[in-house]
Amino acid sequence: RKQVIEASFGRLNPVQRDAVFTVNGPLLILAGAGSGKTTVLVNRIANLVRYGTAHDSDKIFGTAGEEDVAALEALLKDGGKLTARLASLLSVNAVRPWHVLAITFTNKAAGELKTRLEAMLGSDAQDIAASTFHSACVRILRREAEHLGYPKSFTIYDSDDSLRAMKEVYKQYNIDDKFLPVKSALSAIGRLKDQMVSPAAAAAQASEYRTKLVATAYEGYAKRLFSAGALDFDDLIYQTVLLFQEHPDVLEYYRDRWQYILVDEYQDTSVAQFLLVSLLAGGHNNICVVGDDDQSIYRFRGATIENILSFEQHFPGAKVVRLEQNYRSTTSILDAANRVIKNNVGRKGKTLWTDNGEGDRVCLYRADNEQDEAAHIASVIGQNLKNGAHLRDHAVLYRMNAQSGPIETYFARAGIPYKIVGGHRFFDRKEVKDIISYLSVIANPRDDLRLRRIINEPARKIGAATLDAAAGIAAGLGCGLMEVIAEAQNYPALGRALVPLKNFCAICDDLTAAAQEQPLDELVSTVIDRSGYRQMLEAQGEEGRTRLENLGELVSSVKTYADEKGDEASLEGYLEEVALISDIDGYDEEADTVVMMTMHAAKGLEFDYVFLVGLEEGVFPGEMSRYSDEDLEEERRLCYVGITRAKKELYLSCARTRMIFGQTKRNPESRFLTEIGEGELQVEESPVAAMATTRISAGAARQRETTRQAESFRSFTARSGLTGTAPRPTAAAKRGAGIAFKPGDLVEHKVFGRGTVLKVTPIAGDTIVEIRFDTAGVKKTMANYAPLTLA
Ligand code: ATP
Ligand code: MG
Repeated sequence: RKQVIEASFGRLNPVQRDAVFTVNGPLLILAGAGSGKTTVLVNRIANLVRYGTAHDSDKIFGTAGEEDVAALEALLKDGGKLTARLASLLSVNAVRPWHVLAITFTNKAAGELKTRLEAMLGSDAQDIAASTFHSACVRILRREAEHLGYPKSFTIYDSDDSLRAMKEVYKQYNIDDKFLPVKSALSAIGRLKDQMVSPAAAAAQASEYRTKLVATAYEGYAKRLFSAGALDFDDLIYQTVLLFQEHPDVLEYYRDRWQYILVDEYQDTSVAQFLLVSLLAGGHNNICVVGDDDQSIYRFRGATIENILSFEQHFPGAKVVRLEQNYRSTTSILDAANRVIKNNVGRKGKTLWTDNGEGDRVCLYRADNEQDEAAHIASVIGQNLKNGAHLRDHAVLYRMNAQSGPIETYFARAGIPYKIVGGHRFFDRKEVKDIISYLSVIANPRDDLRLRRIINEPARKIGAATLDAAAGIAAGLGCGLMEVIAEAQNYPALGRALVPLKNFCAICDDLTAAAQEQPLDELVSTVIDRSGYRQMLEAQGEEGRTRLENLGELVSSVKTYADEKGDEASLEGYLEEVALISDIDGYDEEADTVVMMTMHAAKGLEFDYVFLVGLEEGVFPGEMSRYSDEDLEEERRLCYVGITRAKKELYLSCARTRMIFGQTKRNPESRFLTEIGEGELQVEESPVAAMATTRISAGAARQRETTRQAESFRSFTARSGLTGTAPRPTAAAKRGAGIAFKPGDLVEHKVFGRGTVLKVTPIAGDTIVEIRFDTAGVKKTMANYAPLTLA
């Protein structure tokens, strides 16, 4: 029996297998980069769901007859197929898939986990909860938020929403931005939540002027979000922990639900995340965490390396498994990583080795400037392509998003397709955020913040004074802004703007009604039309057109979502997805392009060819780390993460001068290069001096074209990041996509029934079809998205 089970995990080495077959109790897998931690995690889940404790249990096979034993022996001898009968005998102690919760850091990683589990387990994988901390918490709170006094349909604020909310708190409490910048207050509050410090506790422990200000801001901010029925990102975890701490019965339900808990990238968990995990695991203690203390790179976001270092104290009797063989990289690459990381003092030292062979030496290119650096990367990629590599095997990693600009520009000019992960994302664009805000207000009319964002967007002559008056009335009555506006005629202070306010309410009423009857994607088109947004953009010429194209992308993203979710699609669900899309999610593995991202975003990923750029003091390690050993060690861990992403080749580069944030800097080479040692590197110097000048003046028009290309790459990235797959053709075929409508056509619409086409206007790769319906009046629909067919 043991042999049959082990054969299903044949690829793993003995130590990895030991971890996989440790089924119950606390387990820590502590190992260096590329040693198969994530691989073990996936295989461990597969073993749980397929065989449970069968590997070490004597109890099973009690019902097996002689025939079964004979079949088993035959199987072992001939390597034949595991019959259903044998598999079921082996799986008597299997864990039900819905009892498993696997947590990772990014939606991307969670998606990858699911894909790998599906490949191993088939349909059983669907019931396994594989998610990020944030989406696991959203799931819990959508059921339980009322225990905390929040509506189940709470809104999730992104950083921009939080900023707006905080600005209002500043006004309310007369806090001066000079003493405490709004963003600093928000990040301080985020850290407090990571540490599970409540507003009251923050006030009690504040002793200096600044911490007192933070505590005041925290209190005002918490109240404001509570009354808006909104949670920010940090709240999702903070409030879930509170929920579990204050409602043992609720906690009991989830402990029973998730009897096996696994956490990847455990070195980056915060105090709150640790509490969440240990509360959940409290009853059964079946917790397996996987991590590498050398890869802890989120201290600035409240992650504490302590969680991993003290796992054995938190979970007495924990088994610790160490993996030492690296399967990812060549010896040269691994050596470079080891040479860098050994300079850190606070670490649980470990040795990594590989039998992947020596490989080529790590390359260093000394560029003149950042343009030259970009050109060099492009030429190396070109060379690799000639030798049979694919674009997607290449990753360019940098310390800060701002470094991507010159490389993007160069790539776009050189015609190298690339994708940016992070940076200015699709869902951060103003027009997209505005329409999302309309949708949020439809879903949750208590969302005052987003209501304020759109009430005069497009301009409707509803000024700040009117809004402030309405907000004052709402505060006095203890109700929402929308309720006051709906009754504007009752308040003399709103008299001057009565007509625009009434018009706005009529728009909201129509959209709320549309939300009831229209499919989601069509609803978004309706919002764009009925809000007057489309008209406004159409009047804006070239720029408006680009923005309208972006809104077209938004409609596509909603449509992709709706197609994927089928009957489960909902406005709330879509808004939730949008809120949860994090930087890494723009990365779509399917498309063959070079990927560019920060080293932070690259955690857990691997590529054949990796470029680490900007290896200069002040860039990497960053300026701030000069003053603190702790910060410097974190930068060094980040460097270790960057280097260990590479499978075949690692290319390092630095520039003599670099233009960054509008200033040209001349920085010494990074200490990380010194630590690796020049003797270990294949060094190449820039042959050309100052190539940049001519290239920059080469033509503003081309520059603009480049930016446009980059934009469309990015919007594609953002879109594909939403759901990760293309819309299913069957679903698309049911809609009007591909039909060439013309005036006079008789059509059939899924919701509005029969109608006659009045007008057809091509726009942004789609067509607006204006239709007079027999019963529903005249409506405009997008041909590609409307559930529209020729009658
Ligand atoms: P990181 O620290 O970067 O998250 P990791 O420890 O999670 O890395 P994995 O991503 O699981 O490592 O594995 C690295 C690579 O090694 C993957 O390509 C994986 O398929 C491969 N690998 C893992 N274990 C084995 C093995 N026993 N035999 C062959 N290849 C393996
Ligand atoms: Mg991993």
